[in-house]
Amino acid sequence: MIIVPERDVAGLITPAECFEAVESVFASMASKAAYNFPVIREAIGHADALYGFKSGFDRQSLALGLKSGGFWPGNMAKGLTNHQSTVFLFDADTGRCKAVIGGNLLTALRTAAASSISIKHLARKDAKVIGMIGAGHQSTFQLRSALAQRAFEKVIGWNIEPEALTKLKDVAAEKGLLFEAVDLDRMGAEADVIITITSSFDPILKAAQVRPGVHLACMGTDTKGKQEVEAELVAKATVFTDEIAQSITIGECQHAIAAGLIKQDAIVELGAVINGDHPGRTSDEEITLFDGTGVGLQDLAVASKVAERASASGQGTDVDF
Ligand code: NAD
Repeated sequence: MIIVPERDVAGLITPAECFEAVESVFASMASKAAYNFPVIREAIGHADALYGFKSGFDRQSLALGLKSGGFWPGNMAKGLTNHQSTVFLFDADTGRCKAVIGGNLLTALRTAAASSISIKHLARKDAKVIGMIGAGHQSTFQLRSALAQRAFEKVIGWNIEPEALTKLKDVAAEKGLLFEAVDLDRMGAEADVIITITSSFDPILKAAQVRPGVHLACMGTDTKGKQEVEAELVAKATVFTDEIAQSITIGECQHAIAAGLIKQDAIVELGAVINGDHPGRTSDEEITLFDGTGVGLQDLAVASKVAERASASGQGTDVDF
């Protein structure tokens, strides 16, 4: 069994490799070669923490395992990131534990990969302005990855605490792009692509605020009760997701489903677009929305790459377990 601590993960995988791994496992999910097991996520009644497991099996790559972890809101004050997670990989032929890998950076990279894959396949080709709603830990990973998908010319951003937007301005500057803090009306009126990545429990962006042709990647809602966009906006869009079961229970679609505004069979797995089984966007006026709930198979896909590279290069700690 190989152990790769969090501090070594960055040297063992690139964002581009995470993108490839996640795109490939989304395709496997849509072709039913890979499936996620039901998510466990519990408020443990200590440290205000949410703790749980995301797990699954990919019969194509033989990735089997789980990510265990969650959200500790008091961590920032201790100099730690609020999200803490570890990935465990098992040998699909024997059930023996193969690897234990720090999951914090991998979570940020696989989540950024997911929204970027949605932009690659669903955003208008001529998208010029990208809008960011949210400026927390995940947001810079999201923006960096998204900027590689289209010839964006400008970044606009909104955050409930506007002072946090400077980190997005810095990412835009890395690419020589203009950044402007905007209100939500301007966000909806100007952005061709909008990523939402907040921990909000109330709708932030309204249906009346967005313009035709926009692509939305709703990435923050990963728990029952969270919400980033009005349910009417989900109803107005052609909706894609990583996994339908998660989308309607813990994802952004949970509210539109509960209100009877959309039906489960109208939601398309992004993997079907990757596989060429669904056309994706069909007009320049269509609003597309990706409900990125975060699936265990994403974690297993990227962690498997790290484990392979660590074994091949003699990095990590090999333990006879
Ligand atoms: P963070 O705590 O670093 O940042 C939270 C962000 O949400 C900040 O911009 C904050 O200002 C904003 N926010 C908080 N309360 C708000 C409110 N009531 N209204 C509007 N904005 C509010 O968290 P993070 O690590 O950046 O994660 C952001 C969200 O993404 C979380 O909800 C997290 O659970 C989720 N997440 C999803 C996935 C996935 O795969 N879909 C993966 C990782 C994280």
